[in-house]
Amino acid sequence: MDKKNILWAPWRMGYILGEKKDTCFLCDEYKNKKSKYMVCRGNYSFVILNIFPYNNGHLMVAPFRHISQIEEMENEEMEEICNLIKITVKILKKVLKPDGFNIGLNIGKVSGAGLEEHIHIHIVPRWTGDTNFMPVISGTKVIPQSLDELSKILKKEFKKEM
Ligand SMILES: [Zn+2]
Repeated sequence: MDKKNILWAPWRMGYILGEKKDTCFLCDEYKNKKSKYMVCRGNYSFVILNIFPYNNGHLMVAPFRHISQIEEMENEEMEEICNLIKITVKILKKVLKPDGFNIGLNIGKVSGAGLEEHIHIHIVPRWTGDTNFMPVISGTKVIPQSLDELSKILKKEFKKEM
């Protein structure tokens, strides 16, 4: 990736420097029936907002099962996750109107995975010029509130699609 296209997300320092919990964030949220950030629950997998996003609307799709390797995934998990990626992109296009997306997964610490024990696919909306725009709107206090609002909107949209 071209260096000037790398997003600057200073609020992620809270995650990088913050105390790491022993439990798995994705498992915690999956078990939490009142999860604020899980926007869609499938039969085998779910879609959740990244609370330390690289960009507005940064979502993750993960299997319920706490597995770390792609080859451990069952076909029905794989199939649902691919379908959820498709629906997520469709909804993000409608709600946030991005110019593009980064979609992918990091496997193993060496790849930059923040949570390497529980596989998840990142869906990061991108806007032309967002690398310049993001520092302007940075601020840790702004993010949680906008996440709550975005979560409500996305939950509604997923309900229509599922
Ligand atoms: Zn887990």
